[in-house]
Amino acid sequence: MGKFFQQQFISIRSAMSIISWLYFSMIVVVLSVLIYFLSSLDQLSAKELHERVSLALVNENRQELAILVEYTYWDEAYNGTFFDDEKVWADENVGSYLFETYGIDFSLALGKDNQVKFFASSETEPEIQASDILGKEINQLVLLSNELESKTQVASTYLRIGDAIYLVVGGPFIEEDNGDIRPDTFLLFGRKIDSEYLEGLTKNYQLQALELLINTVSKPSQSSLNLNSPLETLASVRWTPKVPSKDVLPSIVMVLSLFLLGTIIVSRYILTLEQANREAYENKIFFEATRDPLTQIHNRKYFMEMARKEFSVSKRYHRPFCVLMIDIDHFKNINDSYGHSFGDSALMHMADICSNVLREHDLFGRLGGEEFAVVLPNTSYEKSLQVAERVRQELMESPFAKDAKTIKMTVSIGMAELSKHEAIELLIEHADKAMYLAKSRGRNRVECYGE
Ligand code: GH3
Ligand code: MG
Ligand code: MG
Repeated sequence: MGKFFQQQFISIRSAMSIISWLYFSMIVVVLSVLIYFLSSLDQLSAKELHERVSLALVNENRQELAILVEYTYWDEAYNGTFFDDEKVWADENVGSYLFETYGIDFSLALGKDNQVKFFASSETEPEIQASDILGKEINQLVLLSNELESKTQVASTYLRIGDAIYLVVGGPFIEEDNGDIRPDTFLLFGRKIDSEYLEGLTKNYQLQALELLINTVSKPSQSSLNLNSPLETLASVRWTPKVPSKDVLPSIVMVLSLFLLGTIIVSRYILTLEQANREAYENKIFFEATRDPLTQIHNRKYFMEMARKEFSVSKRYHRPFCVLMIDIDHFKNINDSYGHSFGDSALMHMADICSNVLREHDLFGRLGGEEFAVVLPNTSYEKSLQVAERVRQELMESPFAKDAKTIKMTVSIGMAELSKHEAIELLIEHADKAMYLAKSRGRNRVECYGE
């Protein structure tokens, strides 16, 4: 029993419950980490895309400004746009050449008080007039340019003309020789922001498809950018955000599922092993609790328990049922002559012989000392008598030898039959009485109770 309590076992149920909780917590943690990781990934990607679109627009602005600067530094352009006799030259060089080479849609030169000195628009924008361009926004742009401390004083803005949005860059003419600003001069180039322009951006900067929403003021977001004039927001450029989580999610789900499946298989394997160990240990405990440690046959307690069950079944179904009480004759002499250890071996020998003679469903137990008992369920009086005789005979004819010493053992057997008895204890008592009768009648014999 002491051994039993030394063994520390967790029941399968608590193990399952612990494992289930562990799995549950693990899934919650993994899912939280996964959600956090994927949303961070999406956010990073959205932020990166936003920066790229914004950078693309800034870069395009710079290119326009670079073209403008070439012209503001060019004295001939100044002459062509400010003096009528050079108008043809200006139309060609500050007009059609720019429109065809750089995709600019209009150019406009302003003098003192923003007076128009030269204007030309591209073939694709023939409707535009200089008066459509001039207004508060352009005044603001000129003012802004005047305040700039840079050498070229170029500035840019977006401008709405009719239903279209234009990127407008402007700056004063500069003397080629000394780099001085020519006062009361201002040159403007305009370029339409249309789907073609946005497609170009998408292609050149490898962006998502861009869409222009005019008259829409979007809240600042990760997937849109506003185009502003100095006075208001004119339009917004919008795109569908990239969601990398959608691409990686199936792979992650697959890896996690495989991992989960693996853990379940491993846990099941461990639990199965644990169960097998437990079963083996329980069998061992059961064996130790129900067997006699010396002879390995049933001990008194288990024998009585089983005998009681067999007895009640036989009684209920009126089946024949007999009990044998077996006692070794003059066993004390064996101990006295050959020693206790020899006596122990003799008891084991006796148990072996009886077990061999008895049938599988007969119940055989050691009641104590050199006393044994047999329950013969579903066995008639005559048959039981034969069994008892066989046990007695077999033992008598099987001498026991150990350490060059050989002895012959005999037994006295008492038998009692169910029919007249109410309880197993009484039946055993009667078999015991019959056994004592056998002793008194000379031993090595079988006696039946009531005969
Ligand atoms: P009888 O023919 O009247 O039965 O004589 P007996 O000597 O067999 O009977 P008795 O009851 O006088 O002696 C039984 C002996 O069995 C006494 C005891 O020392 C011995 N004995 C009981 N249990 C064990 C055991 O486990 N091992 C050994 N070696 N001897 C045992
Ligand atoms: Mg005895
Ligand atoms: Mg005896």
